[in-house]
Amino acid sequence: MKKILIVFLLLITLTGCQEVTTTLSGVSDSYPATIRGRVMTDSGDMITAGIIITYENGDMERVNTNMLSGYTLKLYTGSYTLTFERGYEYQTKTISIDVENYKTYVIDDVRLTQLYDGPSKGMYLGDLHQHTLNSDGKQEVDEVLMSNINRGLYFGYLSDHNSAAGLPEWVQGNRFVAGYDVFGNAINFLALRAVEITTDYGHFQSIGVGNVFEQADINSLKGDDPVTEITDMVRETIRSGALAQINHPFAVSVLGFNYWEIIDEFDTIEIWNGLYQTNRNENLEAKLKWFDIINGYIVGENKFLPATGGSDNHNIEGTYNSAYKDTSTAEGLYKDQYLRRGVYTGMPATCVLIDGAFTEENIMNALKNGNSFITNGPMIEAKIGSSSYGETYHLVGASSIVIDLDVFSRDQIETINIYKNGVIVKTISIEDDSMYYSNQVQIEGLSDNDWIVIEVLGVETLYAITNPIFIKN
Ligand SMILES: [Zn+2]
Repeated sequence: MKKILIVFLLLITLTGCQEVTTTLSGVSDSYPATIRGRVMTDSGDMITAGIIITYENGDMERVNTNMLSGYTLKLYTGSYTLTFERGYEYQTKTISIDVENYKTYVIDDVRLTQLYDGPSKGMYLGDLHQHTLNSDGKQEVDEVLMSNINRGLYFGYLSDHNSAAGLPEWVQGNRFVAGYDVFGNAINFLALRAVEITTDYGHFQSIGVGNVFEQADINSLKGDDPVTEITDMVRETIRSGALAQINHPFAVSVLGFNYWEIIDEFDTIEIWNGLYQTNRNENLEAKLKWFDIINGYIVGENKFLPATGGSDNHNIEGTYNSAYKDTSTAEGLYKDQYLRRGVYTGMPATCVLIDGAFTEENIMNALKNGNSFITNGPMIEAKIGSSSYGETYHLVGASSIVIDLDVFSRDQIETINIYKNGVIVKTISIEDDSMYYSNQVQIEGLSDNDWIVIEVLGVETLYAITNPIFIKN
């Protein structure tokens, strides 16, 4: 697969070269250069997007176009790389520019081609977990909202810690357009409500309703029993019409989850939270625990616990400071790659599969039924017969299956793993450099109550993992 990276080199002749001291923090005694432009689709419609500014020393930060798709950057004398991006379905474009204080530069329109059309396949990317200034996030509600749209997401849940204060403003985001369907009709962004019920005994997401509980202040010194308190809040959350989720179960200290005996109370589990993909660190532990849980699940008999992912984003700027990098270990190198790829909205996103209208109710159903996968780039379409994620395929006497597999990824994917019951049974190495991978994968030796999960790994930290497709006789 080829990384679409169209590089324009703007050669700007510096006249009357003047020496100006510029520091990283942008402190200077001079007036910075003004860089202006706008972002469009290849058909000429203006679209909002993100702009990743890379400084000469390798530091990076992400800014957004304004709501009208234009941008004005103020940068001090120096060389910069500007990468324009709109999430996983669009190509990115990179511009190198040398600027000089006091001058104004007008950049040619940047056109981003949409390479993949999720909505035409009923696939909608969204972020389930993010914070604003209403709790410990760094930005206002409207800024976080726009970063969702600029990251190519179609829906987003705002989930501040024990606060619904930002939600009335957040849901106004429903008036914004996230994209267009194949007929040219606007797809409105769905700005949906959540609260992260934050206790000293774990964090739980109320997805769909802004439930705030005084009870969240669990204090065992005062005789509170965490299991009772959590069970009460989770049941009340579900009674209110929300989904109850365990967040980052293996996060360190009081952030993690320790009451697996009440696992059946929950609707979903966040196996990919922010900084690491599910084959690393605490997210790996969450994935393996989730595999165990799924191995105890029997279709039609007990409760299925689907997986989700959320960025848990607290800062839409995704600032990368090269001074802190430590690439002396494999873990340090991985973290550096992850930070450079960006820690912001939609990293990762949960992609729901919807058969029908794009509504809040259908998103909730898709999350609850596991009709979804989690990704920081690759888009996975997989079916066994007519059954996809969260659905059941019947063997009717056979013992082998064929998975119709289509993967799109703008950046290079390298490996596809097929898991049966939590164990890899087939690994496919991708040599092809196309952005589209298509195959019919045969798996033998299937029997009643097996389940299949697909995982895609790509360059650096590129990753995606699906919910299970269940196998019955
Ligand atoms: Zn949390």
